[in-house]
Parts: sequence; structure tokens; C-alpha cells
Amino acid sequence: MENEWRCRECDTLLGVERGPRLHLRYKQAQYVVDGGDYCVIAVCRNCSAVNERSGTQEPPQPVAASG
Ligand SMILES: [Zn+2]
Repeated sequence: MENEWRCRECDTLLGVERGPRLHLRYKQAQYVVDGGDYCVIAVCRNCSAVNERSGTQEPPQPVAASG
């Protein structure tokens, strides 16, 4: 199971998600983010848009107001 992570603005490939791991590659450097509970922010090299990705699949929950 492989999931491409693309820039939300211009569709440039930022990385590839394989299961709990996120693979990032830029020129000669390769990065692997593991642990399943990461938060990565990537600035698109093409359009400079800021893309954020979290290892947890659930969207952030709104904070319920007490009272
Ligand atoms: Zn972009």
C-alpha cells in the first residue's frame, strides 16, 4: 500500500507514504519518517506552498467547550 504525497497547490510529488512510514527524497538525500505519529511540514520546491502531513489518519478533533 503506497500513497503519494503531493503538493496541494501544484501537484509536485513531495514524498511517498508506505504504511506507517513516510519517505521523502530531495536530490541525493533521502529521509524516512517512522513511528506513525509524526507531523511533517514540507515547503514545495516548485511553488513554495506549505504542505502539512500528520502520521495519524484521523483529522484533528475540535476542542469541545466545557460547560
Ligand atoms: Zn507546489
